[in-house]
Amino acid sequence: MDEIIFPYELNDDYYSRVGDFGDEFFKYCQKFNFENDEESLEALCIGVYWYLYGTTALDLNSNIHKALSNLAEYRRAFPEDKPFIDELRGKLLTKFLFKPYTKNNEKLTRENLAMLINFLEATGDYMDQIPHFRNFTHNLDDCIELTKWFCKNSRKYLGEYTSTLEKYLENNGTSHLMEEDVIFYHGHELEYHLNMLGAEIMNRIYKADYDKRPRKAILLPSCMNSNNKKCRAKEERLGHVCTFCNPKCNVYRITKEFSDHEVYIISHESTAFKGARSEDKDELGIVGVTCVLNLISGGWKSKNLSIPPQCVLLEHVACKNHWLDEDIYGKINDDVLNLKI
Ligand code: SF4
Repeated sequence: MDEIIFPYELNDDYYSRVGDFGDEFFKYCQKFNFENDEESLEALCIGVYWYLYGTTALDLNSNIHKALSNLAEYRRAFPEDKPFIDELRGKLLTKFLFKPYTKNNEKLTRENLAMLINFLEATGDYMDQIPHFRNFTHNLDDCIELTKWFCKNSRKYLGEYTSTLEKYLENNGTSHLMEEDVIFYHGHELEYHLNMLGAEIMNRIYKADYDKRPRKAILLPSCMNSNNKKCRAKEERLGHVCTFCNPKCNVYRITKEFSDHEVYIISHESTAFKGARSEDKDELGIVGVTCVLNLISGGWKSKNLSIPPQCVLLEHVACKNHWLDEDIYGKINDDVLNLKI
C-alpha cells in the first residue's frame, strides 16, 4: 500500500508544543485589555478569518449570501434532503466563495466585520462560531495585531504538524470542486494552526467547569470504530453506543476502559447533542474527539449549549467523506484522553 499523505499529522511532542504556544499566547494577550480569555480567542479567530477571507467577503453579493445561508439552514433542518441541497451548495460555493488567497488591505471596521460574518455564514461551516463574532465588542485593531503575532509564530510551534499539507492539496488539486465541503477541504495552513491553538485555549478556559460536572461523556467520531459498515452500535438519545462486537475495535477498548463514563459515537459534528435534554446541559462535561478543522466549532457548539468541553485531536484524518480514498482507522493519544477524563 502506498504511503498515505495526510493534511496534518501529530506526534508525541504535539501536546507539549501546543502547550508552549498556548503559554506564549496568553503572555502576549496581556498587552490587550481583553475582558476574559474567551474574548482573546474570539479576537484571534476574527483576525485570522479576516486575513484569509476578507477580500472574498467584501466581494460577496448579498443575494448569494442570502441564498447560501438559506440553503445551509434548510440542510440543517431537513437532513433527508442533503444530497440535492449539497449539490446546489457545492456549485454556488465553488463559483462565488472559493477564491485563491488575495492580500487584504482593507481596514477591519464594524461594517467589514458584518461582511466577514456574512461570508462565514454563507459557507455553512462556522455556525457555532458566528454568535461569538456578532457579540464581539472589543477594539477590532487588536484582532489585527494579535493575528500578526500569530502568523509570525504559528509555524515555529505547529509547522511540523502541517508540513505535508501543501503536498496533500497538490496531490488532490481539483478534488472537492463543486462539492459542499470545498472551502473546508481547502483550508489554509493558518486555519489548522488556529484550530490547534484554539483547542488548547478552550481546554484551559473550560477545564474548571468541566471538572465540576458529575457526568462525563466521551464523544468519538465514527472513523474510530473498526469497520464502519459492520458496526453494530445501538442508537441512543445522545449518540450511538458500542455493543462490543469486535475486541480489536478502538471504540470497544475505550468504552471498556472508561466504563464509569458515557461513550458515544457521533457520525457527524452537526448531529452532536441533537437529543440533549436540560438535565444533560446541567450535568454533562464532554471530551470531544475530532479532526483538526472541526475543533473550534465543536468546542463552541458544546459551550453554547452550556456543556463544558475538553478536546482531544485525532492523530490524523481518517475518513473518506472529506479526506482519503478509503476509510482508515482513526487514532488518538491515549495518555491525553486519560488526563482529560
Ligand atoms: S466494537 Fe462497538 S464500535 Fe466497534 S464495530 Fe463493534 S459495535 Fe461498533
